[in-house]
Amino acid sequence: MKFMRSLREQISLSILLVVLGTVALVSLLANLFINRQFEEYITEQEKTRSENIVSDLSGQYNGLTRSWSADYLHTIGMYSLYDGYILKVYNSEGDVVWDAENHDMSLCGQVMDDISARMGKSKNSGGFVAHSYDISQGGKKIGAVSINYYGPYFFSESDFQFISALNAVLVVISVFAFLFSIAAGWLLARRIARPISKTAEIAKQISRGNYNIRFESETKIRELKDLVSAINSLASALDEQKNLRKRLTTDVAHELRTPLTAVGSHLEAMIERIWDVTPERLQSCHEEIVRLGKLVADLGRLAEIESDNLKLHKSSVDLPEIVRAVCDAMEMEFKKKKQSLSISGRALIVEADKDRIRQVITNLLSNAVKYTPENGNISITVTDSGKSGVIKVQDDGIGIPENELPIIFERFYRTDKSRNRKTGGAGIGLAIVKSIVTAHGGTVEVSSLNGQGSCFTVALPKP
Ligand code: ADP
Repeated sequence: MKFMRSLREQISLSILLVVLGTVALVSLLANLFINRQFEEYITEQEKTRSENIVSDLSGQYNGLTRSWSADYLHTIGMYSLYDGYILKVYNSEGDVVWDAENHDMSLCGQVMDDISARMGKSKNSGGFVAHSYDISQGGKKIGAVSINYYGPYFFSESDFQFISALNAVLVVISVFAFLFSIAAGWLLARRIARPISKTAEIAKQISRGNYNIRFESETKIRELKDLVSAINSLASALDEQKNLRKRLTTDVAHELRTPLTAVGSHLEAMIERIWDVTPERLQSCHEEIVRLGKLVADLGRLAEIESDNLKLHKSSVDLPEIVRAVCDAMEMEFKKKKQSLSISGRALIVEADKDRIRQVITNLLSNAVKYTPENGNISITVTDSGKSGVIKVQDDGIGIPENELPIIFERFYRTDKSRNRKTGGAGIGLAIVKSIVTAHGGTVEVSSLNGQGSCFTVALPKP
């Protein structure tokens, strides 16, 4: 396995890299920029200084006596020397009047060494250079001075301290940034990592079959909240599925057991001659077996429709035409219960699987017949809602209690009334209707008033 990093390490590391990168960039730019400005300032400074030296020196010449004031020359020379300017003053004949090196060779050497050492540290590629300037008085040349200093520029002691302090501040900032990024990374990671690892833990529990588990997260991060609620709804969906599966198995077992027990006990009684074999008893057994066969066929059909690979063979279907065909086929059933049937609707084409839609209408109509007493009224209408073709099957039968409306489409669901009436259904018809309509991208709804009839509305999208 490849080397794995925890989220906390990853976040800390990323923040650290970003912060350090920024600090490094800031330091680099600040140094470059400040040094450049500083260089310009100091180069300018040196120029002014040289000019000042020249004018100061010119003031020390007495034109009348044609002589230099030796004391002042010495003072100017020494001041300049301490500041890093090594002077050599000549008179108009070119003779040396004052020479710093002559005066104090060792001090000159030390000043030069100090400056070279400082500038060496600042990676300046300069060296000592000598510039000569004429000294004049009233427009007349009275001498010259050679100024020897570190060029193109050099830092005085205080300049150098300033630069060093600046760099020290940047180093301190880097250290703080380092500590800050570790702390921030740690805090942030804790906020993100906690809910994630908790969610991972829940997902593990779910994979072990523990579907009851739910997790409330305090996180304010939207994506994490979504993740947590996705896991929660996954758990509840699986929970529901598990319950449904359980109920399905119990229901199937129950549905099969009742007729099997009845047939079994009837046959046993006849074999043991407790009962005489009469055509009525055989007929009753046969009816039970037919019912069983129907149930198994219904189950098979439902399984086929609910399986993911339900193939719809779609074609252009005229809804009123199918409705009429189904009604014709069921005519006998309406007649048996003396129910009246009204059909209305104009030609309306949808793209659908003809046989499956026929099945939907048949199931709805046979429910209407089953749950409507004799002499009741059933109507079926086809309308166009613009987007969909709508089929409405309405009856004035026993109706459905309001609290049971949301669940009648579930497999094996039968209202108590219909169980009592022994209508023969197994509670699969509406589940089949729902599956077929959903597979077509349509919807099925029911409205009903208990005791006053029901209305089922199927909407199928138009092409
Ligand atoms: P069944 O085979 O029991 O009719 P369905 O899935 O077709 O199964 O219907 C489920 C239940 O919904 C029925 O048992 C019945 O209680 C109720 N139901 C369906 N259609 C109607 C209706 N038109 N009027 C009253 N109740 C109905």
